[in-house]
Amino acid sequence: MKRILVAGGAGFLGSNLCKRLVADEDNYVIALDNLLTGKERNIQPLMSLDNFEFIRGDVMDPVEFDVDQIYNAACPASPPAYQKDPINTTKTSVLGAINLLELAKRKNARYLQFSTSEVYGDAKVHPQPEEYWGNVNPIGLRSCYDEGKRCAESLCFDYWRQCGVDIKVIRIFNTYGPNMDPNDGRVISNFIIQALKGEDITVYGTGMQTRSFCYVDDLIEGIVRVMNNTEKGFVGPVNLGNPGEFNMLELAEKVIAFTGSNSKLRYCKLPSDDPVQRKPDISLAKEKLEWEPVVRLDDGLVKTIEYYRGIIG
Ligand code: UDP
Repeated sequence: MKRILVAGGAGFLGSNLCKRLVADEDNYVIALDNLLTGKERNIQPLMSLDNFEFIRGDVMDPVEFDVDQIYNAACPASPPAYQKDPINTTKTSVLGAINLLELAKRKNARYLQFSTSEVYGDAKVHPQPEEYWGNVNPIGLRSCYDEGKRCAESLCFDYWRQCGVDIKVIRIFNTYGPNMDPNDGRVISNFIIQALKGEDITVYGTGMQTRSFCYVDDLIEGIVRVMNNTEKGFVGPVNLGNPGEFNMLELAEKVIAFTGSNSKLRYCKLPSDDPVQRKPDISLAKEKLEWEPVVRLDDGLVKTIEYYRGIIG
C-alpha cells in the first residue's frame, strides 16, 4: 500500500484531494489539519473508510509518519483568512515546509508543495509562465502569504539540491468548487452565497480586474499527475489552472443568471495589492502531464451553486 500524507487535508483542496486518493484502495491516506480554516465536515464522508485517517495537528510542530508521498496543502489561502493572523500564515508556510521536507528526507518520500499564482504578485507579464519571477510587494498585506509561499518554494529547491529530496512544486491559480468554505471570503463563494441569500453582490473596485477560475476536479487531476510523474529532473514549478479569463462583472452576471437571483451589485473598496490581471500559461503542464482543464466555468458554477444550496439550506 502507498502511504500518503495530505497536510491541510480538511481544507478545500486537501479534502478534495483526499477524496480522490482514497478511491484507490492501494492508497492509505492520512489527513493532517489543525482545523484553523479546514472543516471537519469536508472529510466527514471519508471518516468511516479503512484507508483514511484524520489527525488533528499543526505542520509547525515536528511530525513523524511512515509515508511514501507528502502533499503539503497546509496554509490559510483566502486573503481575509491569511491576513487575519499574518505572522501565523508565514510561519505555517515556512516552518510547515521545513518540517515536512525534513520528514520527506528521513523517509525518502516524495514531497509536493502547493504553491500559488500569488508568487507572481501583481504580474507585469500576461499570461504568467513559470519563468516569470513575479512582482510581489514584500511588505504589503498580502506578503505574509506571497512571501511565505515563495520561501517554501525556495526551501523545496534547496532540499532538492542540497539533500536530494524528491520534490515537486505546483503553482495553483484560482480554484473553486465544493468544500470551499461559504465564509471563505473568496469571490466565487461570496458571490454565490450573496446571490442565494438575495443580498447585494460585493464587487471590489471597478470589477474589471480579471482572474482565471479552475474547477476543483480539474485541478486535483493535475495535482495527482504531477505527484506521480516519473520524468527524471521534472520538479516544476508547474502552473495549474484554467486559462479562461473573466472579469468580476462577468462573473457576477453569470452567478446572478445561474442562481436566478434578484441581487444587485454593490461596489466596494478594492483591497490593497489586489492583482489587476491573472491568467496561467499552462504550456508546461500540457507538455509534461498531458493535462488541461475540461470543465467550463458555466458548468463548474452550476455544480458549485448546487453544493452551496445544499449546505446553506
Ligand atoms: N472580489 C470581489 N468581491 C468579493 C471578493 C473578491 O470583487 O466579494 C475580487 C477581489 O478583489 C479580486 C478577485 O475578486 O480581484 C478575486 O479575489 P479572491 O479573494 O477570490 O482571490 P485572489 O485571486 O485575490 O487571491
